[in-house]
Amino acid sequence: MAVDLGGTNIRVCSVILHGDGSHAIIQTKEAIPTHFMMSHSSKGLFNFVARTVEAFLKKNYPGSVGIEAKILVGYARKFNLGFTFSHAVRQLDINRGTLIRWSKGFDIPGVVGHDVCALLQIELDELRLPVRVTALVNDTVGTLMARAYASPSSAHTIMGAVFGTGSNGAYVEKISRISKLSNSTEKGTKRTESDALMIVNTEWGNFDQKLEFLPNTSYDIAIDSGSVNPGFEMFEKRISGMYLGEILRLVIVDLVNDLQIPLFSISNVPKTSKIYTQWAIDSDFMSILESDTSAQRVESRLEIEQRMGIFNATYEDAQALKIIAHAICRRSARLSAVALGAVVLQTESLESWKQVKGSKVDIGVDGSLIEMYPGFVGEIRGALREIREIGTEGEKQIDITITKDGSGVGAALTASVAAAALG
Ligand code: ADP
Ligand code: MG
Repeated sequence: MAVDLGGTNIRVCSVILHGDGSHAIIQTKEAIPTHFMMSHSSKGLFNFVARTVEAFLKKNYPGSVGIEAKILVGYARKFNLGFTFSHAVRQLDINRGTLIRWSKGFDIPGVVGHDVCALLQIELDELRLPVRVTALVNDTVGTLMARAYASPSSAHTIMGAVFGTGSNGAYVEKISRISKLSNSTEKGTKRTESDALMIVNTEWGNFDQKLEFLPNTSYDIAIDSGSVNPGFEMFEKRISGMYLGEILRLVIVDLVNDLQIPLFSISNVPKTSKIYTQWAIDSDFMSILESDTSAQRVESRLEIEQRMGIFNATYEDAQALKIIAHAICRRSARLSAVALGAVVLQTESLESWKQVKGSKVDIGVDGSLIEMYPGFVGEIRGALREIREIGTEGEKQIDITITKDGSGVGAALTASVAAAALG
């Protein structure tokens, strides 16, 4: 089993791996109520996760919970669960890790420094569910695992990356190249085997915290100062689904306030319009704007009405928003390509596999932004071609494959492997 606590959604799934790259999955998905993301204690959130697991079991494995299970299995922990937890943790063991910091709008005191698997296990046990948390998996690691499992043998899966609420990537690295380990006494690191591999969760969402390289507009500054974690996740704040719609909103407000600019000039922007509410414009609105090619931009204008309460928007208004949305998305995709390209170069995968005919450098990606935003992968590819060390030839060798709900499947896969090891 896996439970994937994302930035927006929680997914619970049970997976049967057929062993040939295919799998069967039963899953449920629901939005995480926002009050659990910012509650006063950790109990609320982890209890909610456990209850979501309970509801899943009741629906799909009715014999495993409640009175029946008590008689049948005496609460023996029957399901091995991979816990996909996508905030920075210090992973101490396969099923143990302490939270370093929250991201993606989560802000619950009393969890930093605590083992998130133990917090979940306590709640699962309290509900007497037949579930044992056997693996703690970052969503990017899950995506990497799921893609590696499903990819053809000619593909070398080097990375799993997520572009959803947040953005992050994990890749396969030689242990000898992990400088952090040389100072560490953490168990489980076999430093003597120089060619041994380890999956590294980069947490690239937090890269360039000091803004030495990243562009910084007035909108980026406003996003950061209005967030629950100012000064952190600066890369993510320019890339991921949680922030793109908000960047668009800030630009719209700026333009509406500028009397020189005729945006929504014949409509009356009501004071109650959602353009004045922080976080009220979701990134999926931008996908709609971008995919609307109708002559009159009918759909876009309808969405402007419904989402922002602005009536009588013109074709030009809709077209202006589309152009702005495209610029925001393009910047996001090109910055995403920087992260993907950097990992391709770091792993020297293009060189290693150039000789093998038909071999591909394989990247699994997951997240609603990359999955649904029209043209997002195309913009990434365009930017990869512009990276000198990759170029047109290198870019052709790179496969970027949507690994839908990979974080769930990969976590279940990891849970199953880990369970065998834990005994
Ligand atoms: P999670 O991050 O919880 O795993 P998802 O991968 O579904 O969840 O990502 C959710 C994020 O994707 C939200 O920030 C949402 O704004 C964004 N999103 C959802 N649909 C679209 C879309 N069609 N186009 C662009 N962004 C989208
Ligand atoms: Mg996700």
